[in-house]
Amino acid sequence: AKEPARVLVTGAAGQIGYALVPMIARGVLLGVDQPVILHMLDIPPAAEALNGVKMELIDAAFPLLKGVVATTDVVEACTGVNYAVMVGGFPRKEGMERKDVMTKNVSIYKSQASALEKHAAANCKVLVVANPANTNALILKEFAPSIPEKNITCLTRLDHNRALGQISERLNVQVSDVKNAIIWGNHSSSQYPDVNHATVGGKPVRELVADDKWLNGEFIKIVQQRGAAIIKARKLSSALSAASSACDHIRDWVLGTPEGTWVSMGVYSDGSYNVPAGLIYSFPVTCANGEWKIVQGLSIDEFSRKKLDLTAEELSEEKSLAYSCLS
Ligand code: NDP
Repeated sequence: AKEPARVLVTGAAGQIGYALVPMIARGVLLGVDQPVILHMLDIPPAAEALNGVKMELIDAAFPLLKGVVATTDVVEACTGVNYAVMVGGFPRKEGMERKDVMTKNVSIYKSQASALEKHAAANCKVLVVANPANTNALILKEFAPSIPEKNITCLTRLDHNRALGQISERLNVQVSDVKNAIIWGNHSSSQYPDVNHATVGGKPVRELVADDKWLNGEFIKIVQQRGAAIIKARKLSSALSAASSACDHIRDWVLGTPEGTWVSMGVYSDGSYNVPAGLIYSFPVTCANGEWKIVQGLSIDEFSRKKLDLTAEELSEEKSLAYSCLS
């Protein structure tokens, strides 16, 4: 039998956390043959709720779940973890400036980075979900210099899956037959959902949809603004789909992407596609042996180029803002 893997979830008493921890305990994150020990972290005001989640995890009697650590102590939470899913973050409240939210999150990610740096297992893989996800991941990278940059990523898989979902609805095909959409850039409304290389059953999505106006307009908007549409409908933000796509992200990273298929991940830019190096930017990637690799050589038309640059500019600005909050 495999040794249990230790999985940290921060903000575990929150909405996404509540949807995510049972998925992890059922093997959705790492496979149904991989036992897990859950490390759940939250802040003191959420300690009682966090304990309630722990009680429910015990009550659910998940065979794969070999232990639960529920704590408000960041060192205890980070100790020995093999995977870290960072969901905790300071939400933007009414009347708050962008800079105020950034200051709060920069300080949270700085301190959690230091704890991971000192106490996580070697080769710990990190996924940042909390917004601003790309920039939080960058701060985490800065303050955890011993964690290789290739191990620090952020979530754009939800946006990727939303793009697949919209194409499947539009063409009335199974979502599992839609492949190789791309989310470029920031996990924000400046992201660029690109279907120029996407296929269904081997045929280009562009040919099948045969409506460039929709693909270059409405489709992009729907994907970019899907989160807001869900809040409007549910009066709560998307938690089920966020949790599910966080599992997809880690599972594909660890177990590999199928031959001929890529997914979108926010990763540290090496300058591929002329995206400035040193940003955490969403690219198409394939994964094998626990490592991601940016898909190279895709053609980028003029329309796409502008969109790739626009979202890169937003990320550069966020990066400067984050650094200004540090000083
Ligand atoms: P959620 O669980 O709904 O969301 C958590 C984070 O994920 C938010 O930053 C949210 O961004 C982000 N997110 C990224 N993608 C999505 C998506 N597709 N849909 C929804 N959210 C997304 O928030 P809760 O407030 O329910 O839970 C947060 C938890 O974090 C709480 O338990 C709280 O106690 C804890 N917390 C921890 C802090 C710390 O570690 N110091 C500080 C503050 C809170 P967005 O804000 O844009 O919705």
